[in-house]
Amino acid sequence: MRISLTDRCDMACIYCRPSMHDGYVAAEERLDESAWDTLLSSLISQGIRRVRITGGEPLLYRGLLPLVARIRALELDDLALTTNASRLEALAQPLRDAGLDRMNISLDSLDPQRFAAMTRGGNLAQVLAGIDAAQRAGFTDLKTNTVVLADHNDDELVAITEWAWHKNMTPRFIEVMGVGEGAHLFRTHAVGYTRMRRALAHLLSDDEARTEKDRGPAKYARSRDGAHRVGFITGTTHTYCDECDRLRVSSTGTLRACLARNEGVDVSEAARMGDSRALSEGLAEAWRMKPDANFKGCTEESAAAVSMRATGG
Ligand code: SAM
Repeated sequence: MRISLTDRCDMACIYCRPSMHDGYVAAEERLDESAWDTLLSSLISQGIRRVRITGGEPLLYRGLLPLVARIRALELDDLALTTNASRLEALAQPLRDAGLDRMNISLDSLDPQRFAAMTRGGNLAQVLAGIDAAQRAGFTDLKTNTVVLADHNDDELVAITEWAWHKNMTPRFIEVMGVGEGAHLFRTHAVGYTRMRRALAHLLSDDEARTEKDRGPAKYARSRDGAHRVGFITGTTHTYCDECDRLRVSSTGTLRACLARNEGVDVSEAARMGDSRALSEGLAEAWRMKPDANFKGCTEESAAAVSMRATGG
């Protein structure tokens, strides 16, 4: 289960959301901390085993640290977070202390100007300081997420890979999906798995990249010496809907079975009222909304209407 705690973000990545000057309006957040508690404990008691906190930018959510500690106290196997790391330098150790297991960090370029352009204003130095702080705090399984766009950062795959391996992290390269703002870019700027793999061929073993059990749709290839990995998330060339077991909770309290569709089940009122029966009915209804294997995921036209930041990327 991926939860979008807030759709607010201090970056405006060109493939994710409109610029601040382009009619950007934050969603009304309908879940307060106690509603999140009720919702999460109810869903986890019904069998959810792995939770990822995302957004928007989850580090902007004021009650994040106590919420992490409370989720950690529930019965689950894995608690992870995806962040742009702009505020991570100060928060890495407190997040570790609160019980967060793992973190993925978005990093689209190692060039400060390019980084600022792709994120519309992001500060690379802050992000790198956040990554260092996370390592000092003891996050050993760090992964980076890079959305690869032609004419933006498609010449940086080798540099990012070597840099990440040097820091004992796993770089992951993502095909841009036609979700939200990505819909404006994916026909013109998408870079597919085959091209990414070709760019990294001299660094990687020739074996097929493989998914890992309970680790989502990313497939991983090994370095030639077997010591490191690179991940690929291929939501455009291989839509993997048949394997998808994800559920999302949007920042407004809607359960969503699919990232490529806006439909979902609004459980915000049930969460606020502490109505566990309505929550379990909502969960069952959301599962019934899972598209069948003929659905073509984030390449379907419906994906363009989805807000990645509200649904949770
Ligand atoms: N703010 C956090 C961050 O930057 O990691 C978490 C939310 S962000 C929406 C989560 C991930 O979704 C990021 O790695 C981002 O690159 C990815 N993402 C957003 N829009 C995308 C798109 N259209 N196609 C592919 N990945 C996308």
